[in-house]
Amino acid sequence: MKISKRASSVSPSLTLEITAKANKLKADGVDVVSFGAGEPDFNTPDFIIDAAKAALDCGKTKYTPAAGTLSLRKAIADKLKRENGLDYEPADIVVSNGAKHCLHNVLQAILDPGDEVIIPAPFWLTYPELVKISDGVPVFVQTKEEDDFRLTTDELEKAITKKTKAVIINTPNNPTGAVYSKKELEKLAEVVLKHDDIYIISDEIYEHLVYDGAKPISIASFSEEIKERTIIVNGVSKTFSMTGWRIGYTASNRAVAKAISGLQSHETSNPNTPAQFATEAALCDGGHGDTFVENMVKEFDERRLLLMKKLDTVKGITYVKPSGAFYVMMCVKNIFGKSFDGKKITTALGFANALLEKENVAVIPCESFGAPDYVRLSYAISKADIEKGINRIKSFVEKLKA
Ligand code: PLP
Repeated sequence: MKISKRASSVSPSLTLEITAKANKLKADGVDVVSFGAGEPDFNTPDFIIDAAKAALDCGKTKYTPAAGTLSLRKAIADKLKRENGLDYEPADIVVSNGAKHCLHNVLQAILDPGDEVIIPAPFWLTYPELVKISDGVPVFVQTKEEDDFRLTTDELEKAITKKTKAVIINTPNNPTGAVYSKKELEKLAEVVLKHDDIYIISDEIYEHLVYDGAKPISIASFSEEIKERTIIVNGVSKTFSMTGWRIGYTASNRAVAKAISGLQSHETSNPNTPAQFATEAALCDGGHGDTFVENMVKEFDERRLLLMKKLDTVKGITYVKPSGAFYVMMCVKNIFGKSFDGKKITTALGFANALLEKENVAVIPCESFGAPDYVRLSYAISKADIEKGINRIKSFVEKLKA
C-alpha cells in the first residue's frame, strides 16, 4: 500500500532530530541546556485561564460558527483597529486552530496547482511544506546578511513570474529576528501593486515581540489597495503565551475570508470553543493583557541583550543582531572543516549534533530554514540557562581543532 504523493512530498523536520535527542538526554537526568524552544516560557496569564473556566462553567461547550464566534471576531476587528489602524468587519475575519492552520487555509483558498509562492530565505520551515501540501511551488529568494536578511524590492521584483500567486512576509521574523521598517514594507507593497493578482501573506504572529523601540506595523495598513491584497495571519500563541490553546486568525478581503471559512467548515468546523472565549478575554481586557505583554517583552529584551553580550565573547562565531521575536541566528560557517575529538564538522546539523553530544547544549540547525550556515538559538529560556549554555558553547568552540 502506498501513501500519497502529497504526503510523501513533505520533508521531515531536521529540528525534530535534535529536539528528540535533547529530550531523551533530559529524561535520562542529563543537565541539558536547550536553546530550541519555539514558545514563550511563561504561563498563560490567569485572567485568560479564568475566562476559559467561566466559559466552561456556563456551558460554552458546543459548536460555534465555523469562522469563530461573532463576539471574538468583533474583538479581533477592534484589536486590528486599535493596534494596527485597520478597518475590518467580523465577516472579513476567520478564527482557526493556530496561525499554522490559518496559513494552511490561506494557501488552500488561493492556490491552484503550479502557482508559485515567494518565500524569502531564511524562513520558518513550515512555509514551504504548507505550499507543497496545497499543490503550490515554493520559490525561495535568498536574502542577504548585510541587509539583516530582509527582502529587498529588487530581490522581490526578480522573483515574480506570471505564476506568482503570493509572497510571504514574516515580520518580526523566525528564525532571523529581523523586523522590517515601515519604509521597507511600503516599498515592497509598491512592487506587489505593480502586478495583478499577487497576494501578500503577512505573518504577524510575533508582532508584539519587538525591541529597541520598534513598533508593530502591518503592511496592510498603507492603503485600501494594499489592504485588499494582504491576508494577515496572526494569533495569540506568542503574544499571550497561548501556544497550546491553538487559536489564530486571518483578516482579508471578503472573498478570501468566505473561501477560508467554507473550507474550514468541512475540515475542522470551528476552533475549540472555550479557547475562543479565552482569546476574547486576552484581546479585550486591554489592562491585564497589556501589562502581561509589557512584562514579557521586557524580560525577553533583557535576555536578548544578555545572549548577545555572551555571544560576543565566543571567538570564531558571528550572529545577526535580532530586533524581534525570541531567536538569534548564529553563523557557524567558520567552524566547518574543524574537528572535535577527531570528528570533522561540515554542516550546521553536524555542529548541533556534536554540541549536544559533547556539551549537552541543544541548538536548532537552520538547514530546513533556508540558512545552512546557521543555527538558531531561542532565548525563551531563563537567564541562568543562557549564561550556562553560552559558556558551554564557548568551551566547545575553543576545543575545536583546525
Ligand atoms: N508563524 C511563525 C513564523 C511561527 O514561528 C509560528 C510558530 O512557531 C507560527 C506561525 C505558528 O503559530 P501557531 O502556534 O499559532 O500555530
